Amino acid sequence: MQRDNVRPIASMAKLQTIVTHDPHDERHRGAVIPPIYQNTLFSFPDHESFRGAMSHVLDQPVYSRGNNPTVEGLERTLAMLEGGEKARCFASGMAAMTAAILSVVRSGDHIVCVDHCYVQDFLRNYLPRFGIETTFVDGRSTDAVRKAFRANTKLLYLESPSSMVMHVQDIAACASLAKAFGARTIIDNTWATPCFQNPIALGVDLVAHSLTKYIGGHSDMMGGVVIGSAELVDPISHNEYMSLGGLLSPAAASLAMRGLRTLPLRMERLAHNGLAVASYLENLPFIDRVNHPGLASFPQREVAAKQMSGYGSLFSFETRLPEELVVRWGDRLRYFRIGVSWGGYESLVIVTIPSEEQRLEGVVLVRMYVGLENPGALIDDIAQAFAFVGLPTNQMSNGNEIGGECLEKRLER
Ligand SMILES: *Cc1c(COP(=O)(O)O)cnc(C)c1O
Repeated sequence: MQRDNVRPIASMAKLQTIVTHDPHDERHRGAVIPPIYQNTLFSFPDHESFRGAMSHVLDQPVYSRGNNPTVEGLERTLAMLEGGEKARCFASGMAAMTAAILSVVRSGDHIVCVDHCYVQDFLRNYLPRFGIETTFVDGRSTDAVRKAFRANTKLLYLESPSSMVMHVQDIAACASLAKAFGARTIIDNTWATPCFQNPIALGVDLVAHSLTKYIGGHSDMMGGVVIGSAELVDPISHNEYMSLGGLLSPAAASLAMRGLRTLPLRMERLAHNGLAVASYLENLPFIDRVNHPGLASFPQREVAAKQMSGYGSLFSFETRLPEELVVRWGDRLRYFRIGVSWGGYESLVIVTIPSEEQRLEGVVLVRMYVGLENPGALIDDIAQAFAFVGLPTNQMSNGNEIGGECLEKRLER
């Protein structure tokens, strides 16, 4: 039943080398992980060296909003993983993405952006204040993207696969289209991670991530990063980063570094687990559609496979079961906790509130994040919750015993 069509991470060895190698090991007296430079400022033996450093506040430790060795180590590793020259870290994914956007547009410019993305509100509600307009397009059609371009379009913003609905864009085609129009391309690559998708190699100018998700990987830090050429990242450092000040704390950088060390290992397992659960759901008669780019039934399967070497474990499914029943099913799940975010150890579920359109069609959209638990246990959990709401699936697979304690907690609510 488990259809495992995840290709092995081709460059697994290379990725592992990057994430485990600290080029500045010697500096830290042999500490096996980079120490956390918690200090805000760095002092100097004399004014000559101080004045010299003051003209390089982004490259030398002077003040921690500017350069901090712990954060810098993380930035170097992230740049290497994405194949970019430079990386700049921020306090959150949103801080990184909005900084990247602000760095390429000015008053009077126009942006083309895919629908269903995280920066939607910023583009729709905030930037118009400064005379910057955005056209939202269905990124599944490169032709629709092309038609949205105007003479003053300066940015194409992508998120592939896109939030909730998992729509995929043909990244190489979109990037070359933008290039032809003289516009920059930014992509949110949080879902695929550098392990499975490398947009810079596909022609994208700036790659952004929420470190909060897979890269942090343990639901205990928030951060973001922008990666690209020095030509594009340096101005972000000088302007948006220094002036808006949304810096990543050294403690958070250290947690992201810890997450990175196991990223390739976790992604391999997460890709497998995600597909196992998605394939199981797809075969249930009362589930209409599973939006997971790795499934053979995924409408854009070809584009997805062309540009990704593996798949994230966040996906959604659609059903016409009554909303109230789906909510009861979700409440009954034991391993899938109810909550936002994703990318950590633990599996998550959200039964979304139907839009007006979905209500008319009777469709309920459920978002699933599959974590690192045993996939058989997760499938059994889904099956027992369906059985509870009167939909037995005869799929209790391998008799995984699920602890009763967290079930009792759930039922108390
Ligand atoms: C969570 C998320 C963001 C926002 O990141 P924060 O760290 O929460 O600011 C952006 N893009 C995607 C795809 C995300 O999942």
